[in-house]
Amino acid sequence: MRRQRRNPTGIQETIRTLPILGLRERVILPLGVPSKSPLWAARSVSINAVKHALENENEVLLLTLIEATDDPTENDFHQVGTVATILESLETKNGDIKIIVESYARAVVLGIETVEDTLVARVRIIENSPVETDDVDDVMRKLLAAFEKYYKKTERRVSHEDQTVLLNETHPGHLADLVAFYCGQKDPNNLNLSHEQLQQVLNALDPKERLRLVHGMVNDLLDIIEIERNLSEQVKKQVERTQREYYLSEKLKAIQKELGRGDASDTEELRDRVKEAKMTEEAEEKALKEIDRLDQMPPMSAEAGVVRSYVDWLIALPWNKRSDAKIDIEAAGIMLDEDHYGLVRIKERILEYLSVLKLVDQMKGPILCFVGPPGVGKTSLGRSIARATGREFVRMSLGGVRDEAEIRGHRRTYIGSIPGRILQGVRDAGTKNPLFLLDEVDKMSMDFRGDPSAALLEVLDPEQNGTFRDHYLDVAFDLSEVMFITTANVLPAIPGPLRDRMEVIELPGYTEFEKKNIAKQFLIPKQIKGHGLRGKDLTFTDKAVEKIVQEYTREAGVRNLEREVTKVCRKVAHRVVTTNESNDKAGKKASTKSTSITVRNLPVYLGPPRFLETQAEQIDSVGVAQGLVYTSVGGDVISIEATTMSTTSGEGRLTLTGQLGDVMRESATTALSYIRSRAKEYDLTDVDFRRLDIHIHVPEGAVPKDGPSAGITLATAILSTLSGRRVRKDIAMTGEITLRGNVLPIGGLKEKLLAAHRIGIRDILIPKQNVKDLEEIPSDVRKEMRIQPVSHMDEVVKEALLPADDTTLRLSQRVPAMPLAHVPTSPPPQ
Ligand code: ADP
Repeated sequence: MRRQRRNPTGIQETIRTLPILGLRERVILPLGVPSKSPLWAARSVSINAVKHALENENEVLLLTLIEATDDPTENDFHQVGTVATILESLETKNGDIKIIVESYARAVVLGIETVEDTLVARVRIIENSPVETDDVDDVMRKLLAAFEKYYKKTERRVSHEDQTVLLNETHPGHLADLVAFYCGQKDPNNLNLSHEQLQQVLNALDPKERLRLVHGMVNDLLDIIEIERNLSEQVKKQVERTQREYYLSEKLKAIQKELGRGDASDTEELRDRVKEAKMTEEAEEKALKEIDRLDQMPPMSAEAGVVRSYVDWLIALPWNKRSDAKIDIEAAGIMLDEDHYGLVRIKERILEYLSVLKLVDQMKGPILCFVGPPGVGKTSLGRSIARATGREFVRMSLGGVRDEAEIRGHRRTYIGSIPGRILQGVRDAGTKNPLFLLDEVDKMSMDFRGDPSAALLEVLDPEQNGTFRDHYLDVAFDLSEVMFITTANVLPAIPGPLRDRMEVIELPGYTEFEKKNIAKQFLIPKQIKGHGLRGKDLTFTDKAVEKIVQEYTREAGVRNLEREVTKVCRKVAHRVVTTNESNDKAGKKASTKSTSITVRNLPVYLGPPRFLETQAEQIDSVGVAQGLVYTSVGGDVISIEATTMSTTSGEGRLTLTGQLGDVMRESATTALSYIRSRAKEYDLTDVDFRRLDIHIHVPEGAVPKDGPSAGITLATAILSTLSGRRVRKDIAMTGEITLRGNVLPIGGLKEKLLAAHRIGIRDILIPKQNVKDLEEIPSDVRKEMRIQPVSHMDEVVKEALLPADDTTLRLSQRVPAMPLAHVPTSPPPQ
């Protein structure tokens, strides 16, 4: 089975117009493989559609009819279908066409019209884009396990090849589709997913949501199998000479009971639950009205399901439940200290913030926003604040949210719609005054479906959030008691209007010393406990912890450090269990030999060190300067390289390569212009810039670097290559450059200095105007570094470039003289 899905356009989402091939009671999922059974086009609309496709791009939209009809119109179709390529077609004598298709992507219908007797749809095609699977790994595993059980119980066979494909599928969305496909295959006892369920799977555009949906469906199937078995036994006993209808009606009743619906008394119970939920008047009225409608519907109809889940949502929300939230500043201080090492000023600011909240006694202040690289404790601070203020904790990541509807829900007319993530979070919290952590507010983006940050602004605005209206629920819900805290990796990426509402607290990252202490005092005890070990089972020597920090991780936070500690704990836990088991078998008493992790045995647990060499330059070289940059994972040191080549084109060019943004390109041009304008002072009078191509390369890092702060580094690298003077290997710098050579201040100084310190560079040039920021640098780091403030490029040159010496090759010696014939002549007079 081929997993590679076709993508004729190579674009993630595309708008296209495609002929519709209507399907009756059948749903085809986008598996990216040829369908096993053919499709038949017998009615004229279908034949027209296939012909239309064959004459054009060979592609059709497979769209399932809501109810079978011979002459379908726009409203008779579901809104999500699949795009398929026609691989083979065969026209029979009576004009029917048989086709084999390969469907490869979901498509959401935007509009349907009739063109020359063919129904065509304008669709948005949605490919399975790559997703982070950390948080759904577990669900993926569980789904496979449930699937295996289901297959065993229904006594079906999956070919070895198909099993391999399933086991190796890493995309949660595609895995969900594959499993749904197999579970949708007809089973003699009808123990398969119905086409309505497959349509729901198709409707689930979000891969993770889809995964959870299919997981739920497979589990339901397993339950049904179980019920079926019990039922058969029960019913057999009850009914002596069983009539078939009686048996079936018994069975139906039992199933409905199991699903908790269908009985006439059921809607009464629902009304009671609505009353118990203590909703607002508006919500209660709406809920009761919907239940009245439910009474009129056949209980198993699709519409009843929709109404039912709407009412369930209303009931599930905590309209009137709150936890006993109060602010005790002293206790809060203790809790913050209990959970976190250091961060003294940050804890102080949090306590100040909480004190203000306590005094004004309402949530009308600005929203706290923790800004810093991953793993510096943003989430865990949020968790501690929740604990300290007696609130439930909910967390929601906004990373990748592009659609307003994700915040605010889809309208109920939209198939498969549910409330937005805010109300989902509130429901999960179960109280109306939780602490809601909105992660990664800097990672939201926007497209034609509306601006999520505008919706978020409304959620956060105390003037408006007392009557927050979710599109799905369509009744006001009071969010004014929720305490919102946001986090972000970098400040500039937070949308401006949101930033204005926030009180930003920056967490720049930890020094090695701090990391060591965090590991010793927090991460190690936490993981030892979390792995079911006792303190005496496992100890780490100080030197071992230091080695993990220095040679196994390179990060601003402590996330990987925690991961490495976890790895050791896991291995030790494994050993403890296997030894105990073998002792058990041998009838010996359980012996508990403790494990001590030392520098020596560390590689046994973690493998060879990953970051042995520091990244600092090893020798003073020409044309290489080290700059300090600020990335979304903290500070970093990069080597900027410059070189020159002679050219015969008559105009020297500046070429830039590497992962550069526009601002960095502009900095390079500014740096070069400055150097050219000062050629005399820098002893470059014999350099003919028209005969010289300059190439600058910034090696690729994990994250795009941009910003003007590489200005003086670029200028140093260029000047070094032009003058042949070597750059000191033990110096790194940061600063914006102007055309007159002035050095302007930059951001992220603390992160940058910590990065330089981490890799062992001690001499640093910083803009003079940044001196005030040095206060924030931990004193143990500051003491070890020689930080030189500069305000002009001349000072940079003096510090960073070694004087010309005997080994210095002048450019004129390196670039051969150009043959006379190529010397550019001055342009002819106009
Ligand atoms: P973030 O949200 O900033 O990415 P987390 O809050 O998830 O980071 O932190 C990662 C891990 O590091 C958590 O287990 C957290 O408890 C731990 N941690 C981070 N900073 C500290 C600290 N100062 N003291 C103790 N543990 C910390």
